[in-house]
Amino acid sequence: MSQNSVFEMALEQLNDAARRLNLDASTLRVLSHPERELTVACPVVMDDGRIEVFTGHRVQHSSARGPCKGGIRFHQNVDIDEVRALAMWMTWKCAVVNIPYGGAKGGVQVDVTQLTPNEIRRLTRRFTVGIMPIIGPHSDIPAPDVNTNAETMGWIMDTVSMFQGSTVLDIVTGKSIDLGGSLGRREATGRGVMFNTLELLKRKKINPKKTTVAVQGFGNVGSVSADLLTKEGCRVLAVSDVSGAYYCEAGLPIADMIVYCTTSRNHLLEGFSAPGVSKISNDELLELDVDVLVPAALEKQITIANADRIKADFIVEGANGPTTPEAERLLTQKGKIVVPDILANSGGVVVSYFEWVQSIQSFFWDEDEVNSNLKRVMVNSFKAVWDVHESHGIDMRNAAMLIAVGRVAQAIKQRGIFP
Ligand code: NAD
Repeated sequence: MSQNSVFEMALEQLNDAARRLNLDASTLRVLSHPERELTVACPVVMDDGRIEVFTGHRVQHSSARGPCKGGIRFHQNVDIDEVRALAMWMTWKCAVVNIPYGGAKGGVQVDVTQLTPNEIRRLTRRFTVGIMPIIGPHSDIPAPDVNTNAETMGWIMDTVSMFQGSTVLDIVTGKSIDLGGSLGRREATGRGVMFNTLELLKRKKINPKKTTVAVQGFGNVGSVSADLLTKEGCRVLAVSDVSGAYYCEAGLPIADMIVYCTTSRNHLLEGFSAPGVSKISNDELLELDVDVLVPAALEKQITIANADRIKADFIVEGANGPTTPEAERLLTQKGKIVVPDILANSGGVVVSYFEWVQSIQSFFWDEDEVNSNLKRVMVNSFKAVWDVHESHGIDMRNAAMLIAVGRVAQAIKQRGIFP
């Protein structure tokens, strides 16, 4: 496998599942190819009058089970290969939790720390117009991902609405509550990580109050995961972001760290201090002697280069694709359990689905209803994957992929190939 290709990593996972399912070669061929890809150039007038051009992509992997669904990422490392992989993972994610969506993903290659808020807004609107021919409430519904948030979704919704001549609430999910977003959506991915962690601890008969955790990444997914796991009694010993990693043997003051981030420059932990808190390196965080490691930053953080030094017994993938297949094989051989991204971080797309349903109906649920429905979906999905993991004697990713790929393959077969 090429060191650089995340899509090859996604294909390797698909091929593994196809082998186990005895999937026919024709269906595998269909699943290996994204349905549609669009690359757009986005010229933006910068605040100083200069024009910069940013490249963006939207990839729709599969619409076999419903409209395509997936986030939009703003990051300097975005390229078509990464967006393809992320789109494919969205297909499996929606299928494993059995919501009626296919998979998509979008991204713009940009270092947002170098742009002003006004430049980011203009870039978002221009990218939206670029991908507008292929997105829509019944065809492809974007959502937030790395470096995008409810504000970004509001700009996308407004841009599409301006062209339509009327407000199109159901074009995106992850909107602010004021713009028809769902209560609980901002926390949903982290809440899902928490439910998955608790379900795993329950199967292993481990008391959450005696469980130690390290979380890589302190953005939407990482900070909420750390916060909710702390509230469940776990001791979060370490968290990190791009500014570095922070450690406290007694457990970090996560709530204070979240407050700190909301007001700090670029919303980073940089400069945070509290009694008993020390700085460690980002690499050290991954290798800490904790029970649960939650990688919640970017892809390929646990690789063959560091897998041997990972001490956590359980890896709950908050991020998409944080563990390479080679690294995962090594971890599994050592008896460690990886709760795969397509299950562990699916809480976000589940509540996105709830938001879409509410937007279509213009009828909004209270937060308890959102959270209890999320819990039901997460607990049932975890159980389904765990049962296949145990009955087939395979790791949890293969179990999740067996369910997901099986469902998508079934939809393709029942629909038939057009024409
Ligand atoms: P975010 O931009 O809110 O946060 C990303 C965090 O990771 C930031 O704290 C950043 O500083 C940190 N980070 C980046 N590189 C790092 C490194 N090398 N070491 C340590 N920290 C690093 O993004 P997010 O929405 O929290 O997404 C994180 C991951 O979760 C991504 O893989 C994303 O695709 C996935 N995900 C997000 C959602 C969602 O609802 N937001 C849903 C499912 C999956």
